[in-house]
Amino acid sequence: MSTKILSAALIGLEAEIIEVEADSGGGDFGQIAIVGLPDTSVSEAKERVKSALRNCSHEYPKRKITVNLAPTNVKKHGPAYDLPIAVSILALKNKFFLDFSKCIIVGELSLSGEVRAITGILAIALKAKKMGIKNLFIPEENLAEANLISELNIFPIKNLNQLISVLKKKQITWPINELSILPAQLKSSAINKSVNLASIKGQAKAKRALEIAAAGGHNILLIGPPGSGKTLLAQALPGLLSPLSGEEILEVTNIYSIAGELKNNLTLITERPFRTPHHSASGIALIGGGAWPRPGEICLAHRGVLFLDEFPEFARSALENLRQPLEEKVININRAAGSLCFPCNFILIAAMNPCPCGYHGDKKILCHCTTQQIFNYGRKISGPIIDRIDLHINVPRASFEQLESDKPEEDSSAVKARVEKARQWQTLRFKETPFTTNSDMTSVAVRHFCQLDNSSRTLLKEAVSRLNLSSRSYFRILKIARTIADLSGSDRVLSAHLAEALQYRPKIE
Ligand SMILES: [Zn+2]
Repeated sequence: MSTKILSAALIGLEAEIIEVEADSGGGDFGQIAIVGLPDTSVSEAKERVKSALRNCSHEYPKRKITVNLAPTNVKKHGPAYDLPIAVSILALKNKFFLDFSKCIIVGELSLSGEVRAITGILAIALKAKKMGIKNLFIPEENLAEANLISELNIFPIKNLNQLISVLKKKQITWPINELSILPAQLKSSAINKSVNLASIKGQAKAKRALEIAAAGGHNILLIGPPGSGKTLLAQALPGLLSPLSGEEILEVTNIYSIAGELKNNLTLITERPFRTPHHSASGIALIGGGAWPRPGEICLAHRGVLFLDEFPEFARSALENLRQPLEEKVININRAAGSLCFPCNFILIAAMNPCPCGYHGDKKILCHCTTQQIFNYGRKISGPIIDRIDLHINVPRASFEQLESDKPEEDSSAVKARVEKARQWQTLRFKETPFTTNSDMTSVAVRHFCQLDNSSRTLLKEAVSRLNLSSRSYFRILKIARTIADLSGSDRVLSAHLAEALQYRPKIE
């Protein structure tokens, strides 16, 4: 006699249906063998399941039990199979009325039989809906998350005994049949505590650069001495971006769910992520990966902002790994069973000191670094990475007069309104293209969308020869000029826009 229960495995950001089969026969009482490419975390399930069954006083087959997880070519990882394994074993001896081919069961078991939350419920619910499997038994703690997907019958489970008593009923009443919790009632993210630009004195140039970065989706590098307010400026960037759309909320929440970052009953990520990994972060923490690839910081920053402070202090290999995601907005992670693709479309804001001591170019404090030291410091960031950052801006320390000034600073909401207008221009412009913002444009698209009149062409020609600009710089300047034109509501790129764009060229090249 054998039984079959459906469960789910996470592969990258998606779920796959897994069949959990149990069979009893031969061997000694109490033995459980799990086959079907389980890793150690799944193999440990047999000990948890045995204890949970014993502690819940369930009748247990008196023969050896074999549990097979199919398809066998998918590696199984994590504790989410505990509950379906326990149910499949109990189904060998008990009469359950539920049609197991029409439901998915997931959950981790404690030794006493309590059901614990698992990661990636949103992806599992999405998969269930896609496959037309309407019935879901999930850990109670994961309920709000699963509820985000409509048209499913969801049964939140507290402990094994509760599930078994439900399964023994001829007719199950599903407690949750519809999207019963409105998004507004859900506990949403407070991950983005944006700084208001109005609270930052002076720094007009840096603020303007932030506005351009937000409007055109451009990456930005802030260079300035310690205490010049680079971090505050970076923290103001998410507040200049429009809120996430409904579709983006689900997309970002799914990433956080799989990464196990939906903590403290946080259900929805509604605000644009702002991630700030430390420069000592490992390559895997930053980029993602591992034996069971999980999203890294760049993926957690998807649709939001990635802030890398002390930019040159990051491991060179970690920075080099940013090249592909900065270019393609996705990261491919290779593993034995093929590569996985994680989305990572973020605005990078990097900050660094101008030299090892931090005060090169400061008006008051003397820099003690040698020319060679300053040169080597800048060289820590490779040319290809510098090339992928459109806006480079010096952030000097604010003067005493600026700090003292009573002059009101512009509020973030006013800047955000201009950013939104500029984004609308871009949405119209890129309607028939794969691009969303000006920063996405290829060189062919730049030629098409950033046509210059005679005077601006002359200005750019002069700049290219006088400043010895590379072709990458040429296209970068045109993209920024396009965004500046959008911010001023001009459908043409004028020489004034170009002149401003030229100010943001790299300071270290
Ligand atoms: Zn120095």
